[in-house]
Amino acid sequence: MNEYNPKELEPKWQRYWREQNFHRTDKDPHKQKYYVLEMFPYPSGKLHMGHMRVYSIGDVLTRFLRMRGYNVLHPMGWDAFGLPAENAANERGVDPGEWTYANIAAMKAQQEALGLSYDWEREVTTCSPEYYRWNQWLFLLFYKKGLAYKKKAPVNWCPSCQTVLANEQVVNGECWRCSSTVGLRELEQWFLKITAYAQQLLDDLKLLEGWPQRVRVMQENWIGRSEGTDIVFTIQETGDDLTVFTTRPDTLFGITYMVLAPEHPLLPKLLAGNPEEAEILRRVQEMCRESEINRAAADTDKVGIFTGAHAVNPANGEAVPILVGNYVLMSYGTGAVMGVPAHDQRDYLFARAYNLPVRLVVNSPHTDLQSAPMVEAYEEPGVLVNSGQFDGIPSEEAIKAITDWLADSGRGASRVRYRLRDWLISRQRYWGTPIPIINCPSCGPLPVPEDDLPVLLPTGVCFSGKQQSPLADHAAFLQARCPSCAGAAQRETDTMDTFFCSSWYYVRYTDPLQDKLPFNREEAAYWLPVDQYIGGIEHAVLHLLYSRFFTKFLFDQGMLTVREPFQRLLAQGMVYKDGAKMSKSKGNVVTPDEIIDRYGADTGRLFILFAAPPEKDLDWNDQGVEGCYRFLRRVWRLFQQHGDLFPSAAGAA
Ligand SMILES: [Zn+2]
Ligand SMILES: [Zn+2]
Repeated sequence: MNEYNPKELEPKWQRYWREQNFHRTDKDPHKQKYYVLEMFPYPSGKLHMGHMRVYSIGDVLTRFLRMRGYNVLHPMGWDAFGLPAENAANERGVDPGEWTYANIAAMKAQQEALGLSYDWEREVTTCSPEYYRWNQWLFLLFYKKGLAYKKKAPVNWCPSCQTVLANEQVVNGECWRCSSTVGLRELEQWFLKITAYAQQLLDDLKLLEGWPQRVRVMQENWIGRSEGTDIVFTIQETGDDLTVFTTRPDTLFGITYMVLAPEHPLLPKLLAGNPEEAEILRRVQEMCRESEINRAAADTDKVGIFTGAHAVNPANGEAVPILVGNYVLMSYGTGAVMGVPAHDQRDYLFARAYNLPVRLVVNSPHTDLQSAPMVEAYEEPGVLVNSGQFDGIPSEEAIKAITDWLADSGRGASRVRYRLRDWLISRQRYWGTPIPIINCPSCGPLPVPEDDLPVLLPTGVCFSGKQQSPLADHAAFLQARCPSCAGAAQRETDTMDTFFCSSWYYVRYTDPLQDKLPFNREEAAYWLPVDQYIGGIEHAVLHLLYSRFFTKFLFDQGMLTVREPFQRLLAQGMVYKDGAKMSKSKGNVVTPDEIIDRYGADTGRLFILFAAPPEKDLDWNDQGVEGCYRFLRRVWRLFQQHGDLFPSAAGAA
């Protein structure tokens, strides 16, 4: 009887699977399809235990369903653009492409040693021209439909990564990748108009019953829908219109001041000629440098500076002072908020601190608040007072009545606003998909003709570390003919956010070799949606929101037949050891290679699947691994001793 020897056994079967192309998947009209997908990795060069956990979960589900007769698609690929390759180039002078492909080869060998059942014929690598040309094609489709546009805007800038970041990539005021404090810069950038889909992205969350509730809530909050009223004030000194958005138009007569965000475009005009202009502008600059998260936090010290200008209330003609305040964000609403201290506790505290008047306009139905000075804001519904023709109306009715009255007089309208902003996709980096645009001095920006795709990334660029894309220094890349007037023109030198690549890779797997289109509609229609998606919670408002946006857009273009990409989502837990996340600095790292070497992949996979439910955190435990190994040895012996009970399987072993 031979002993359990995974070192011999596992490579033998892995070789067999490879040679037989055992995991290849084709469309099969006689079987129920099922699409299992683990989020594809960034090719860092080494698999860690977190990878092994995700892949083991996806693999066991795939094998289980295949044995039950399903036609299961289980592909793997590489999210291969991104900054680490460029940093390696900077630090060690290696070519980003060579570095990336070497890492892919190393990780693929590790995945194979784990015995994962991927259909490698469908492998997708986003940094290959065969893939990124379709990024460019899709970008042009967005552009043609008016959903890709360029504008100058204050954008998040990571000083360490030397690039701009999307709002979704700024976490608590820090860069999602390197944790540097993110600042603001005014730059000309490309955006995708994800806001055009804000309502659909919100509404369709209810279709996602197979998603963790917390992920749906995170997306709902990120989209941030609020119903309210736009009210147009007039600036007394300049005559400009100033629009504010409020959910409490019933308190219109109680406004005693107005606050603008430090980035508000009217601010320089309001401050012009103010004797303290220079000093105020200096403090405004300071406010702008603070991160939005800090500025919006509940415990932030609210700072306000009087601009010297006044806003005229359309309801009563009263002029109230306009301040600039650190706690007002340009990225939310209109960048201007009305101060109603009698009916908002935060405004109340601010007004007391700055000695601004407090005027009651909603009286409590239970106690007459007018009989004594207020000591706190009254935020409940009530009956309007001090509100002209609206006196005596219940505040809930007054919301509509005042909005209608504003609309009739052309000074406002009911309005739905979202917190979601358009997705900034320009990156001033080399290792990404070139944005297929040519800037002509006479014709302006023009799309690269489809026949000229892909716009290839050049090799041999110089990584100067300057604050623009290295592509801007590459003359052969930069110079182009204008597709319209044939004059000398320049290529766009920014590349796309790598999240663009991952927003549709799950569709490409359904038709990975397609060279006429990003994918064939019938292939995608057969396989999509992904029935079970598995990946980290950190993607809740990044990748998972962007992918939903792409799917909805491609559905509207008639290219997809589904409105949602991922039917079910499993956000797997973390892998800990000795109560802490595995990390080199803590010295508590266990690598998949060590486990395979010592016990074999099956022991590692078995432990990972038994040690904790997939969505819970898992604490690595050497005794537990040992126990799984002994269990497999017993199974092996049992099988050896009673091989006659399993004649066909025994022959195969
Ligand atoms: Zn960074
Ligand atoms: Zn031209």
